[in-house]
Amino acid sequence: MDTRVNSAESLDLFVNATRQFERALTWVDGVKEGVITFLINPKRTLHVRFPVTMDDGSTRTFHGFRVLHSDVRGPGKGGIRYHPDVSEAEVSALAAFMTWKTAVVDLPYGGGKGGVVCNPKELSRTELRHITRRFVAELGDSIGPHTDIPAPDVYTNAQTMAWIYDTYDRMHPGGNNLAVVTGKPLDIGGSVGRDEATARGCWNATEQLLKRGAVPGLHTLDGARVAIQGFGNAGSVAARVFHNAGAKIVAVSDSRGGIASQVGLDPLSVLEHKRETGSVVGYSEAQTISNAELLAGDCDILVPAALECQVTESNAGDVRASLIVEAANGPLTAAADRVLSRKGVVVLPDILANAGGVVVSYFEWVQNLQNQKWSLDKVERLLNEKMCRAVDETVDRYDSLMGRYENGLNADSTVPTLRDAALANAITRIATVIVQRDVWP
Ligand code: NAD
Repeated sequence: MDTRVNSAESLDLFVNATRQFERALTWVDGVKEGVITFLINPKRTLHVRFPVTMDDGSTRTFHGFRVLHSDVRGPGKGGIRYHPDVSEAEVSALAAFMTWKTAVVDLPYGGGKGGVVCNPKELSRTELRHITRRFVAELGDSIGPHTDIPAPDVYTNAQTMAWIYDTYDRMHPGGNNLAVVTGKPLDIGGSVGRDEATARGCWNATEQLLKRGAVPGLHTLDGARVAIQGFGNAGSVAARVFHNAGAKIVAVSDSRGGIASQVGLDPLSVLEHKRETGSVVGYSEAQTISNAELLAGDCDILVPAALECQVTESNAGDVRASLIVEAANGPLTAAADRVLSRKGVVVLPDILANAGGVVVSYFEWVQNLQNQKWSLDKVERLLNEKMCRAVDETVDRYDSLMGRYENGLNADSTVPTLRDAALANAITRIATVIVQRDVWP
């Protein structure tokens, strides 16, 4: 397969996020130019540089970011990632995705994201604790239960969130500070169901989309052939919940490669193999494939659950699935979207498909503010309701955009997509609040 990238195509996540936003804007009437500029760019970008004493006695300076993209509809909400490639552009794009996502599923939040440039694989637990505590101290009151609420992201976890909570609590003694961060361990205010929320939300959204008849020729998950790129938190749990819903998992992959079986893989057994060997590759009852082959493989549903910009203008034409469910953030470029739309491939966009994680983060925040503990049953029922309502609203908006397109009423002459519809709903919700609050002073 030709995996070369068209030279005109940008793989910068912020550029792609902006292109998606600008395209969706053509379907929304009456948003003033000045408001558009305000909506595209982050409201606030904080850079911090701070020293940390390493285990060997040396001192290293780390660079961290916290971007508050929007607080129009409520406090900022979004993860903190630790990765050597963290950059201002990446964090800004991910913060914008959070703004659209919380609006699509109608949570009373804006969007934020943060990160520290570091390689957690080369750091000890003590060094990670020192980095986290010092980072939170440097962020000061820019985070808080009613201003901007972090959560886990790539290479941060419940332990990192426990350190964030503890540091913030020591800086603000005397009150209930649990709601400053979500994704905490269960014993200090975490919510049941948070670990599986992203994948369950993906499944809830996919079921509802199929029920609504939005994917020609595919009406149920029962018997559907599913390929999943990425076998981490989102991907491995998605494999299990889709499998439990009757789907056949025909291929999965991780950073070392992929495996395929048209008979179907047992997700629990593959996970066991990955735990033992560090990769899905080498699993005995499957053939080995590359990640490129997984993306182009014969299946009904493709679930990218790994990295951004995986399907580009160069390989979008090879996709054989009729539905792509974006469990990852930004796995398709804006150019790939156009190719897939022309091919008739339906895309359930990231800001809807993977919103289950932030929905259950919201449930955790509500429980913390009210000193409550909900049951798993309640969390899963309310998550399903939220996801199904957001899918219904997106499909309804899509139908209305389609009517507009068929009547030649849109300046952009390309066929609308579910991403356009989800973004149009988000932009409408945010722009409405801007008008109602009015511009201060
Ligand atoms: P993770 O680190 O747990 O898993 C990532 C997986 O992708 C790993 O299996 C890794 O081996 C694999 N991978 C890395 N490079 C790859 C490559 N080139 N090809 C194929 N596989 C590769 O991360 P995660 O939490 O599962 O997140 C995955 C994606 O889902 C990210 O885009 C993240 O932003 C998004 N997401 C996650 C959540 C969540 O709650 N975990 C919520 C919303 C969105």
